[in-house]
Amino acid sequence: MALVGEPATPGSRVGIGHDTHRLSPGGPLKLGGVVVPYDRGLVGHSDADVLLHAVTDALLGAAGLGDIGELFPDTDPANRGRDSAEMLTEALRRVAEAGYRVVNVDCIVFAERPKLSPYKETIQKRLASLLSVSADRVGVKAKTGEGLGPVGRQEAMMATSVVLIEPC
Ligand code: MG
Repeated sequence: MALVGEPATPGSRVGIGHDTHRLSPGGPLKLGGVVVPYDRGLVGHSDADVLLHAVTDALLGAAGLGDIGELFPDTDPANRGRDSAEMLTEALRRVAEAGYRVVNVDCIVFAERPKLSPYKETIQKRLASLLSVSADRVGVKAKTGEGLGPVGRQEAMMATSVVLIEPC
């Protein structure tokens, strides 16, 4: 089914998510559920997959189901080192339970290095699989910080995502 020219289903809802994680020496670096070879990794209570966190928040926000911090508090030891793909899967389950399915998702990863273009297709397919949609419904973009700010200084990576859901 082509996306172009389709009218939005009545009751469709949009959500936005954004996240930041610090970088530190050593890996692994996980982005969108994919291990990306790099000599630094993201630091966080879970596996710190900044892209999956942004997508999860966009999904939850679209359905009016709160946010990732409410569902998976960092005070809960069960969430320590947790696979963020599990959190996204649980968020998607709740969204489906609320009567919605994903129409499409678009996202941007902000990373000075490594160059992400060789991994974008793998990340796109992984996100599509996690969200139970075809890959043409997932956009993955990567931007550097142009040497500026915490991204540009390679102190952090950020991700922003927008998700559209429709009643099913
Ligand atoms: Mg996070």
